[in-house]
Amino acid sequence: MSIPYRIIFHIDLNAFFASCEMAVNPALKTVPLGIGGHKDRGVLTTANYVARKFGVTSAMPVAEARRRCPDLVVLPVNFALYKEKSQAFFDYLRTFTDFIEPASIDEAYLDLTAFLEGKDPVAFAKKIQADLKKDHDLPCSIGIAPNKFLAKMASDHKKPEGISIFRKREVKEVLWPYPIEAMHGIGIKTVPNLKLLGIQTIGDLAQYEDTTKLSKFLGSSTAFFQAKAWGHDDSLVDPHKDQAQSIGQSRTYDPALFTIQEVLEELEGLTKLVHERLIESDLKTKSISISMRNHQFETRSKQTSLPFHTDDLGVLIETMETLAESLYQGSPVALVSISASHLEKKARLVDQINLFDVSMFPSKKEAIEDTLSKINAHYEKSILKKGWSHES
Ligand SMILES: [Mg+2]
Repeated sequence: MSIPYRIIFHIDLNAFFASCEMAVNPALKTVPLGIGGHKDRGVLTTANYVARKFGVTSAMPVAEARRRCPDLVVLPVNFALYKEKSQAFFDYLRTFTDFIEPASIDEAYLDLTAFLEGKDPVAFAKKIQADLKKDHDLPCSIGIAPNKFLAKMASDHKKPEGISIFRKREVKEVLWPYPIEAMHGIGIKTVPNLKLLGIQTIGDLAQYEDTTKLSKFLGSSTAFFQAKAWGHDDSLVDPHKDQAQSIGQSRTYDPALFTIQEVLEELEGLTKLVHERLIESDLKTKSISISMRNHQFETRSKQTSLPFHTDDLGVLIETMETLAESLYQGSPVALVSISASHLEKKARLVDQINLFDVSMFPSKKEAIEDTLSKINAHYEKSILKKGWSHES
């Protein structure tokens, strides 16, 4: 089935966590406000627009934000409140259509092709903006385009409270001048690599001819990203976009594996396969489990919950090694398996500023340890959960 023309909205609630706090406590509207961190440690997840005028941004360490804006009010994250406001947002949108795909707690794609037939999309966008402001005190930006990618880029175009239309015929003029870091889906780790290739803008990416070089950094998604840079995106607004419950890989060995080195090598190969599937599906995991079976068909398993969702291969391998080393008992191993669960779509992972990417940490390992100790200090106990199961 081909659809000749679609009308897709991307609606993005502006500075969402801060907006929720300001909605329940309007006195906060006129003061610089940051959300997140713990006392003077950690990073902000959101800042309101008053704070942004001082150069305070999300993902900024609290200490740095306070240097820039000494009067900054910092509130802890209050997920219960944000979930409630998010629910109200989606409930409101569902009064118009069921063709809604939640992209995160504060973002939605709507396919309004049928709903808006013969109607003015901009007038409708204005109505949505006004209703959300009046009934829920939530400001939003709306992007209108013939596909999801362009709609997402359009909603980013003017914040806060903008309404922007991106048309396919304007791609070269409107989309191409954007810096490559503004392209939705390109990770901040990938940006410097693309710049090394001379790719500074979305237009540069669209026109880059050496796809072999490009695929070193964009992998199997190279063609997908280049198509987007030309304004093409066939993906549908999918109200039922669901995640797999877990992604696992296992292998049996006959003869069995006799040394821990062999076990670790095999598990590393399986971990890479699990990692590839996570990346392909745009998923991150928060829980890793390892199983080993001996010749007597006794299976031993061990599981760890990570403090944050991740799709970082290094973190997955380190976690796998820790589990495998504690699980290995010296007897021959006839089967190993690894599985990643507690999966979440990357797009839905809000408030999980990629701590592994924050440059103030010299290494990932340190970032993880720092994060763990912060969380443990916060909750005054270890939240690193380990589980055991024994089956025969
Ligand atoms: Mg937002």
